[in-house]
Amino acid sequence: MSEHAPDITLREQMTPFESVNHYVERAAEHAGIHESVRQRIRMAASELRVEVPVRRDSGEVATYAGYRVQHNSARGPYKGGIRFHPEADIDEVRALASLMTWKTAVIEVPFGGAKGGVQVDASSLSDIEKERLTRAYTRAISSIIGDHRDIPAPDMNTDAQTMAWLADEYANLEGWTPGVVTGKPVPLGGSLGRESATGRGCVVVMEEAIRADEVEPHDVTIAIQGFGNVGSWAARLAHERGYRVTAVGDQHGTLWCEDGLDIDALVRHHGEHGSIDGFEEDADRVELRDAGFVLEAPVHVLVPAAIGGVVHADNVADVKCSLIVEGANHPVTPWADRQLAERDITVIPDILANAGGVLTSYFEWVQNLQQMHWHEGDVLDRLDRGMVAGYWRVRDVAEREGLTLREAAYLIAVGKVCEATSLRSVG
Ligand code: NAD
Repeated sequence: MSEHAPDITLREQMTPFESVNHYVERAAEHAGIHESVRQRIRMAASELRVEVPVRRDSGEVATYAGYRVQHNSARGPYKGGIRFHPEADIDEVRALASLMTWKTAVIEVPFGGAKGGVQVDASSLSDIEKERLTRAYTRAISSIIGDHRDIPAPDMNTDAQTMAWLADEYANLEGWTPGVVTGKPVPLGGSLGRESATGRGCVVVMEEAIRADEVEPHDVTIAIQGFGNVGSWAARLAHERGYRVTAVGDQHGTLWCEDGLDIDALVRHHGEHGSIDGFEEDADRVELRDAGFVLEAPVHVLVPAAIGGVVHADNVADVKCSLIVEGANHPVTPWADRQLAERDITVIPDILANAGGVLTSYFEWVQNLQQMHWHEGDVLDRLDRGMVAGYWRVRDVAEREGLTLREAAYLIAVGKVCEATSLRSVG
């Protein structure tokens, strides 16, 4: 079997790329898509592997493996973030690129899917080393990106500053082209509302999902794994709207407070210390539990907003929430997803739940191409409306076809991408 045709039958252990293709294949089957088109949506259109040499502050040169995978551009230019992470290998980047294809389709923005990664422990780099790494990686992928070709954005361990370095390095080669990257700082053509967009989108779809229950926000408890861009903004907005965020966890531990954590104080602590560690020492009634507790906490809503594959065969039975909002990409393995469905635990899938980021990236790109700046209210309004419409598009199909929200989201996305692929047909 070639590496492009992974075994996608449901198993306890599947690689990220096998997992995404498992859902794609099921949707293609349901929609009766022809095998020749299926082959094209299964594999990536192009995969670039680059060596990224970086001069360390010590004077030594370290070299890291970098990737840019372009999955599908049938509906528009490739689009997808760049992550700096030790586990960013080709399989993961390929899976994330594919997820972007489905995400942009389900949220109806005219982009395809791509992803980039550098296999590096970002915490081991100084700021200047991170800048050198970003510039070297940008030079290495510069020939395949562009504002109508492939448009990167932030992801794990990359942020607006990283995107500023990318835009600047690209400008050195091609001239100033703000639309080549999104998630930039606002003074460089970034969009107001982009930084909080993914976390905000998670809260918006959560509210749609629980609307029919007619519960008061204070009676809804939430656990959030990850307190980076997505997790911290989801926590802030949920807290602002009166929900009780009772657990926040990262790789070191879980903060637990049954009355609800003081999220404003936690944000301040995180700003000062760079992590949530030690918050419990100065906070009343906050307990420190182990890192896995956040996933098993007795709450109504779980928002995994850190890494992939955290809810799996070994811990899915301990999940106690009734709703999972996938802030992270592929946080639930297909095996666990099946168990959750059997237990009637609703999962709002990543390709919908965390699409607020790419939706607002699209707004940023449009502003860049038009050389305009929109007011923050306009951006947030469009974001909210886009997420609400996306949620109901998926929910309606799920109800009509008797599918889970994930199955429905893939059915919609695969249908749109296959239609565009066939219309543009390469014969
Ligand atoms: P980030 O780097 O800002 O934050 C990551 C957080 O996860 C940090 O709090 C970190 O401590 C925590 N973490 C790392 N390893 C962990 C582990 N092993 N266990 C528990 N926690 C761990 O990243 P981010 O931008 O917030 O992205 C988080 C997730 O959301 C990723 O899966 C990313 O692909 C996805 N996502 C991000 C965006 C975006 O706009 N940033 C958009 C869509 C999806």
